[in-house]
Amino acid sequence: MKERCVHRVKGILRAMMLLLLALSVLPLGAVQAAWQPSLAIGLLEGQTTASLAVRQGAANLSLDEKVLRNLPRGTTLTVAVESGGFLVNGKRFSGKTLALKADKEKGEMIVSVNGRSYRGELRLVRHQGGFTVVNDIPAEAYVKSVLPSEMPPEWPAEAEKAQAIAARTFALANRGRHQADGFDLCATTHCQTYTGIAGERDASTAAVQATYGQVMTYQGRLVDAVFHTDSGGMTENSEDVWGSRIPYLRAASEMQTATKPWHREWTLEAFSAKLAAKGTIGTLKRIKLSPLQIGKRADDRASSGRVKSVTFVGTRGTLRLSGNELRSLFQLDSTLFSLRIEGNRVLATGYGAGHGLGLSQWGAKAYAEKGTKAQAILTHYYQGVEMKQLYKE
Ligand SMILES: [Zn+2]
Repeated sequence: MKERCVHRVKGILRAMMLLLLALSVLPLGAVQAAWQPSLAIGLLEGQTTASLAVRQGAANLSLDEKVLRNLPRGTTLTVAVESGGFLVNGKRFSGKTLALKADKEKGEMIVSVNGRSYRGELRLVRHQGGFTVVNDIPAEAYVKSVLPSEMPPEWPAEAEKAQAIAARTFALANRGRHQADGFDLCATTHCQTYTGIAGERDASTAAVQATYGQVMTYQGRLVDAVFHTDSGGMTENSEDVWGSRIPYLRAASEMQTATKPWHREWTLEAFSAKLAAKGTIGTLKRIKLSPLQIGKRADDRASSGRVKSVTFVGTRGTLRLSGNELRSLFQLDSTLFSLRIEGNRVLATGYGAGHGLGLSQWGAKAYAEKGTKAQAILTHYYQGVEMKQLYKE
């Protein structure tokens, strides 16, 4: 009796110790994660058929969390949608979600969808008469595939590391962006380009490993780590691009200015025809826009010199368009440009590529080539952010 009591006390003590241990690793704030999170990436939507294969390891085929059977390496499946379920190699299964989960005893599983190979696990979820293919993948493996699509692997290591941290932070901060579609992030440029194993490159993988679990935070929250190709000479304040002020997205200087120059021209007639989509002004006579000086603000230009608005004066009226409207209407590389009429032509000369917010990839390359470390590159482009180890290996 006495001994049992002692056992009970010991048992309670052990339970309390375990509880304390659990509490010490539980998330305490918005950005703490003790373990590497997994991301649900939407690979395909509205599919009616797909061919799947087990390329490495082994899979457990499951339907709504119930394991149907083990699939050894080399197994191929043709899946088609059926009312109320799926046809798998011609056999009917009723349910909502068909999944290929890893058989952990057989090592890392690699599966393919329509010939493209992925790490992590696969889910086919019935949705609106078809199905969505979702890849559940650990965050680090995801960033390894994404990084080479965002930055050439042969670029300097510190630029690669900065981009790896930005891509990881962006993904984790934007988790659930596609919640309504049934996943976290899509696999296109809308979120970040993700092509599975085909996207991986050794140098990029090394940069991801060197920054394992590292993210940027601002006031304890993950940063919306947006980035672009080339600022052209200076990045921009968020409110001058998107209209809302984000404290860490401030205009930042570059080592070089007037980079990535671009030039476009139209006949006055073609230009006017395009403008007509936004309002009728007759024949274009004059363009009101102050001259471009990189890093110089004006009434119609933001801090970096990006165009805030342009006024077009025509024979039958005037039209004012924002830099962003012009950029999308004429598919311009950036909003850092000058615009003028010369004879019967309209000429645009500009610099940079992309929206101009956050990290400039070519700018990061220039800093890295001069010996700037990844963390310093990031705090230059994302003002006031802190580096944080979100999880460890
Ligand atoms: Zn997306």
